Amino acid sequence: MENKKNIKDYNLDELKKEFENLGEKPYRAEQVFKWIFEANVTSFDEMTNISFKLREKLKQNYIICIYKIIKKQESKDGTKKYLFNIGDDNAIETVLMEYKYGKSLCVSSQIGCKMGCKFCASTGIPFVRNLTSGEIVEQILAVQREEKIKISNVVLMGIGEPLDNYNNVLNAIKIMNNQKGLNIGARHISLSTSGLVPKIYDLANEKLQCTLSISLHATTDEKRSSMMPINNKYNIEELLKACKYYIETTGKRISFEYALAKEENDNEEDAKRLVKLLKGMLCHVNLIPINKIENGKYDKSSNENIIKFRDYLNDHGIVATIRRELGPDIEAACGQLRKKEVKE
Ligand code: SF4
Repeated sequence: MENKKNIKDYNLDELKKEFENLGEKPYRAEQVFKWIFEANVTSFDEMTNISFKLREKLKQNYIICIYKIIKKQESKDGTKKYLFNIGDDNAIETVLMEYKYGKSLCVSSQIGCKMGCKFCASTGIPFVRNLTSGEIVEQILAVQREEKIKISNVVLMGIGEPLDNYNNVLNAIKIMNNQKGLNIGARHISLSTSGLVPKIYDLANEKLQCTLSISLHATTDEKRSSMMPINNKYNIEELLKACKYYIETTGKRISFEYALAKEENDNEEDAKRLVKLLKGMLCHVNLIPINKIENGKYDKSSNENIIKFRDYLNDHGIVATIRRELGPDIEAACGQLRKKEVKE
């Protein structure tokens, strides 16, 4: 080692090119791709239809990145949270959630995050680096191996701002999407952003079918900037303009995330402004009972208030639902487990 490349970083077209450079036929790349992403093997020796010679060549040039679980927590409601050692003294979090429609995995896209959202447990975890495409996808493969299940939905909503790691995230989506591998349809992949406006335009132009979630959380620039510093760079008006472009270009509905914090953003005036901002847009609002974090300044809004807020939106033409709280007993908010277990 250790200049070996992670074979999971390549989408199928790229792997074919790699194989060409090794003097191998493209169909061999396809066979190896299937072993890695469909059969989920952890060593080249398990690739029984690949010759000994080629396996040795692959071993000389590549590694198969495999995560080890540092800690696994399981909630009473079935939510499971993993802290993975990713091999270079870094750790990342992944959360498995059970929904009526199947198993959904919330994956991280960066080690740490630069965005500094005030309600997020990842704030305070210093940004270390972007995850590579293979490191993003390995979260799915590791959970599939551990639980002996097939993941049907992926949300890019763990630690990190996915659009701040644009190329690797996009490539990871391509890898997840490939029918010869993980075969997770784009419609079953959601990407959540704090609002990196230029990247929303770029993503729209890719015309992927994945769902875009926008962390909105406030209805005035003053309030949003106090919760999410990114708003100082791209304000609500610019953000919603980019969202409209995304909807027009892709024909896809956007999901707006709105975490309700007691006496911060949960009164009727907020609901009224939200209706005004989103009126006429092809969208859905996901109301989230805020997860109280250690030393955090925000408290969860009362259930009564959350229901009132939802009803106001629904009564005024904005489709809104309240997200079920998952794994509150295992600190399922992103960053919470990592903060506890990893000394920075
Ligand atoms: S909410 Fe997302 S973008 Fe904001 S700090 Fe947390 S991980 Fe980063």
